Amino acid sequence: MKVDYIVVGLGLAGLAFVEELIAANKSFIVFEDDSQTSSLVAGGVYNPVILKRFTPVWNAKEQLEVALPFYKKIEERLNIIIDEKFVIKKAFKSIEDQNTWFEACDKPKLVDYLDPELDTQRYNGVIAKFSFGNVHETGRINTKKLVESYRGYLEERKLIRFENFEHEQLNLNEELIQYKDVTASRVVFCEGYGITENPYFNYLPLNEAKGELLTIHAPELNIGFLLKSTLFVLPLGGNNYKVGATFNWTDKTSNPSKEGKEELIDKLRKVIDVPYTIVDQTAGIRPTVAGRRPLVGVHPKHNQLIVLNGLGTRGVMIAPTVAKNLFSHLEKGNALSEEIDIRRFSM
Ligand SMILES: Cc1cc2nc3c(=O)[nH]c(=O)nc-3n(C[C@H](O)[C@H](O)[C@H](O)COP(=O)(O)OP(=O)(O)OC[C@H]3O[C@@H](n4cnc5c(N)ncnc54)[C@H](O)[C@@H]3O)c2cc1C
Repeated sequence: MKVDYIVVGLGLAGLAFVEELIAANKSFIVFEDDSQTSSLVAGGVYNPVILKRFTPVWNAKEQLEVALPFYKKIEERLNIIIDEKFVIKKAFKSIEDQNTWFEACDKPKLVDYLDPELDTQRYNGVIAKFSFGNVHETGRINTKKLVESYRGYLEERKLIRFENFEHEQLNLNEELIQYKDVTASRVVFCEGYGITENPYFNYLPLNEAKGELLTIHAPELNIGFLLKSTLFVLPLGGNNYKVGATFNWTDKTSNPSKEGKEELIDKLRKVIDVPYTIVDQTAGIRPTVAGRRPLVGVHPKHNQLIVLNGLGTRGVMIAPTVAKNLFSHLEKGNALSEEIDIRRFSM
């Protein structure tokens, strides 16, 4: 089999790159081994504001302008609904917190998103000593549905193999690459935290930030917005909510843990005061980079080997833009911005 591209990994990064390939009529084959879960368990929230500090997310406006039509196009092609829009309500911790919000509302990059009119309403089951601030232009991509449907779409067309990509089987010739029965011009590695097993790119400084989430059923809680307090409570419908997330920098597994569950239960006690049952617990490793910029570009010695990784805590917003940047770099010779280019790190 001869293709233009081999793509390793079908999470948000691989999927966004495959969309570029499809749009440009390039041939490809994807390898996916289910070793990482980040894109399957993600909250999927897109929010242009960092609510800890009330500062804008890096290139938020530009990223959303690419990301929202990107997901819309997939919804139409696959006949699914994955983009659920809602308001985020930030529960203020103190009067100072509230005052900082008012200052932030006037910042040019935040004016479209932060509502200067506070919400003083009370919501049954929600613990709040102060008011709420509304964040607009936010929502959630149901990433599990997206990734699973997309894998199915590729499977029907025989464009994905559900097997481990074995790096040691890769033969790099002058021009082409041979991998088992596949001859290709390039390999794009979109392996998330799996990059640590990749002998070509494991020199890149990817950190593991394990995250865990609970799904709860709370019959007396009836909110249609995402509540952002000590943790987030995200409505799924039918009085079910996703609650999260933890950050653990030492555990390198994607298994749900007792510690993660206890931490979330403990924090949730300070956020809601109605009964609930736990329906599910999930975990995954966010592929994060110090400096919070993705890892994109061509291997310094082998120009057929490419990486698309480091989406960190915001894969939903970042993936479509960086995949587009990468494709235009590879196929049209347009330079990658220094901020995201892996050339900022030496081997
Ligand atoms: C608990 C949690 C909550 C999150 N919440 C949000 C959120 O609300 N909003 C947001 O934008 N982001 C969120 N994220 C972050 C988001 O999930 C990531 O940014 C994104 O999923 C990373 O996508 P990826 O494709 O780079 O990596 P992954 O999703 O890890 O995908 C990599 C894929 O490559 C495959 N793979 C790896 N090695 C191989 C190999 N050798 N052969 C074959 N296949 C291989 C893996 O199985 C995997 O499917 C969250 C993450 C976690 C863990």
